[in-house]
Amino acid sequence: MSALRVAVIGSGPSGSYCAQLLTEESESPVEVDVFERLPAPFGLVRYGVAPDHPRVKSITASFAEVFEETPGVRFLGNVQVGSDITLDELRANYDVVVFASGAQVDRNLGIPGEELRGVHGVREFVSWYQGHPDSASDAFALNGNRAVIIGVGNVALDAARMLAHTPEALRATDVPEHIVDTFAASTYREIVVIGRRGPAFAKFTNKEFIELLEVDSCDVIIDPADLELDAQQQAHADADPAARRLLATFAKAAERGVLGRDTAIRFLFDRTPVEFIANGPALTLRLAKTSDPNVTETLETELVLRSVGYRGAAIDGLPFDAASGTIAHLDSRVADGGSVLHGVYVAGWIKRGPTGVVGTNRRCASETVTSILEDLTAQGWTSTATAAADVDELLRSRGVRVVDWAAWRALEQAEYAAGEAVGREPVKLHDRAEMLRAAGVAAG
Ligand code: NAP
Repeated sequence: MSALRVAVIGSGPSGSYCAQLLTEESESPVEVDVFERLPAPFGLVRYGVAPDHPRVKSITASFAEVFEETPGVRFLGNVQVGSDITLDELRANYDVVVFASGAQVDRNLGIPGEELRGVHGVREFVSWYQGHPDSASDAFALNGNRAVIIGVGNVALDAARMLAHTPEALRATDVPEHIVDTFAASTYREIVVIGRRGPAFAKFTNKEFIELLEVDSCDVIIDPADLELDAQQQAHADADPAARRLLATFAKAAERGVLGRDTAIRFLFDRTPVEFIANGPALTLRLAKTSDPNVTETLETELVLRSVGYRGAAIDGLPFDAASGTIAHLDSRVADGGSVLHGVYVAGWIKRGPTGVVGTNRRCASETVTSILEDLTAQGWTSTATAAADVDELLRSRGVRVVDWAAWRALEQAEYAAGEAVGREPVKLHDRAEMLRAAGVAAG
């Protein structure tokens, strides 16, 4: 029996788990090509998970095993689905196509002045410090007095921590050297983190907040008055042990008070951003109390990061639910209304929205793989796919410089060498042309 051929779009956690689970759980032979638009694998683990969270990042070792040691699994980096190879071509060349392409767009606040210079989606900031090849190395300058982060999820805490770390702490990560230098020269001494609801409804986890308290270069300022809960917050805390744990840690932070450290991270709760107003080189942010909109205040700032969640981007030819920013599906089968698009599936954030930790994607990918295997079984495991060499030839004919696994390993070696040259662990190469050169696939 010839192997069934599967294309997975995206090599982040959900795509990598799909490749792993498909090969582990299928009783008949399957070959999996994992397409990745970047020259490097691992998506959100490489470019989203905070650089100071090496333990979470170390999951890449088990994903690497899938690419390196599983017969029939291939990595095809630097291939843009949609232009280098279209959805129709994927469907013609593979038995199954799985979109695991993540949520790549920052949500907006929808308030006046959001387009002003100095207001950014947090993803732009994260991409910059993570050395994402689509981000200009000088995208942020960090010369202001007060930075504002809107939203109280784990991504907001990641951004706040990065702004508070010492250069020494950052040099222990894979953040590119010139970006460490920009952080080292940062003049931001106050970072205000704004929650639209009360502290009982903060979305970040207690573990992450404790970690922030452990950063010894910054104060964490919680106003004790914010911890006097109204009835709604009290009811939520009574019902939710996680909220109670977090409130207890807030109380400890409030008690610790201000220690006079280099940087202060100040939390403001119950504040709704109303508008941004240009104010010379700075910005004025107008806020209203969420519980009493008649009470307003302003904050002067030079840098605003909107950290209010992500959304997926629409994919040509697939039904998109604009409200949730996901591809519509029935049990992971892409579906337009009630009608299933044969052979096309979704996994991860593009399927369920941007929630959960890396491991959540294993369960999500497992549901997708279950639906795929059920359908293949119902179809009697007959393949209509073309051979791997046909896809390779198609890409070659279009001049696509595919980064395969061996090429990625060469790129990774260059990152070790770049780190060694400055007395550090591996540091990311961030320039796409340099990455392709290091991978040995650059033109000429
Ligand atoms: P998130 O957890 O959904 O937090 C979004 C925040 O934005 C919430 O505080 C939300 O407030 C607020 N918000 C939404 N719309 C707003 C508006 N119009 N105005 C003001 N505030 C608004 O999203 P995230 O931080 O982007 O994280 C995404 C996922 O990745 C989460 O599951 C997170 O746990 C995970 N993650 C985990 C880690 C980790 O484990 N270390 C690190 C990073 C990310 P409301 O609650 O009021 O809506």
